[in-house]
Amino acid sequence: MALTGVEIFKLLPKTNCKKCGHPTCLAFAMKLAQRQASLDACPDVSEEAKKILGEASAPPVRPITLGVGEKAVKMGEETVLFRHDKKFVNPCAFAVEIKDTDEEANVVKTIEAVLDSEIDRVGQKLRVDAIFISNESNDAGALESLSKLVSQKAPDVPVIISTKDPAAAEAALKIFAEKKPILFGANSENLDAMAKVATQFKVTLGITAKGLEELTTLTEKAKSLGVEDMVIDSGARKAKEILEDNTLIRRAAVKKNFKPLGYPVITFAQRDDSMLETLIAALGVAKYSSIIVLSSIEKWKNLALFTLRQNIYTDPQVPMQVEQKIYKIGEPTSDSPLMITTNFSLTYFIVSGEIENSKVPSRLAVMDCEGLSVLTAWAAGKFTAAKIAQFIKESGVENEISHREIIIPGYVAILSGAIEDKLEGWKVTVGPREANALPAFLKSRAS
Ligand code: SF4
Repeated sequence: MALTGVEIFKLLPKTNCKKCGHPTCLAFAMKLAQRQASLDACPDVSEEAKKILGEASAPPVRPITLGVGEKAVKMGEETVLFRHDKKFVNPCAFAVEIKDTDEEANVVKTIEAVLDSEIDRVGQKLRVDAIFISNESNDAGALESLSKLVSQKAPDVPVIISTKDPAAAEAALKIFAEKKPILFGANSENLDAMAKVATQFKVTLGITAKGLEELTTLTEKAKSLGVEDMVIDSGARKAKEILEDNTLIRRAAVKKNFKPLGYPVITFAQRDDSMLETLIAALGVAKYSSIIVLSSIEKWKNLALFTLRQNIYTDPQVPMQVEQKIYKIGEPTSDSPLMITTNFSLTYFIVSGEIENSKVPSRLAVMDCEGLSVLTAWAAGKFTAAKIAQFIKESGVENEISHREIIIPGYVAILSGAIEDKLEGWKVTVGPREANALPAFLKSRAS
């Protein structure tokens, strides 16, 4: 069971030295109890206390890593039921299924689609994260051949090997021995043998069950057989069952600290109907799946799911923001236009994207407004004439440009007079309200 704040407090040094960033040891203990702080923040905690607290403060959903290198995916470590309670920690991974019964040409096409799936959205790289290699044929040789092909064509892409046959698993795992794959397919009939293979190769074991009760029994047994890292599948396949089981699993893990269900969840969304598959996958994104298996890759489906995942896994307490500075778009000269906006990531990427579309080389002054968008920052008193004037003066942009004109967003046209008062010798031009009108606006000025 999780320790209470007072129980944790009793184990801390009680010097109130504030090194952890909290005013007292008790305040820090309360944060630890709510899983809103990490024990590492206290440099003076004793080894004995570390041992007790380390166990108690371990995240209720066990951290698991799939794959190695840049494309490795971290999962688990979740501590809350609702994103607004704190945040969701590790974005779920999307894995596309390739069966060992598929035609080789189709296999190659799917692998290429995985490699080509990466997009850049508001500064983050989003992609289909893994390949789910399925032993549909039940033939060990077929699984081995497919594993070789995947390893050869996509050596950096993390893989999940799915088979119920321990011997087939062993042959496939040899191919990915150093790449931290997941072995999926342990069930009530093969658990002993699969656990043996998983511990031998030191890989995460994926356990599949018929319901939560059986799942609990199986994870406890796997643990007793020496398996530490697991991903779990309750057997739910219909949307309603996925929602119910995923919620019960997360609730048991984070509210009751129930260790047998404290593992990342794998969800199977494959459907013949792509729209339905996307909806099931979206349900998994919103409700606690750590790996979502898809049947195919389509650009529209990727875009919808990537965007949803990014939104759900953004920390709601920390707006996404970019660095305050003067950004050069294209190769601006000293005569090129200068625009200003706030440092909310989405605002920056949309505005800079539209300036790029205009093909008019420009400078974009991006002002730190704590990640708020233009209107919100203005309403909060962070995007004011005085602050804009101060930023422009301190930015040094005056040394880069020969003119003294700044284009402000149309939504804050009201600031134009006040900015001219504060920025002596400058002309303020009111730009369009919406970023999508920027290309026409800039082109008309250039012509
Ligand atoms: Fe207490 Fe440790 Fe925080 Fe110091 S750093 S106040 S000893 S919890």
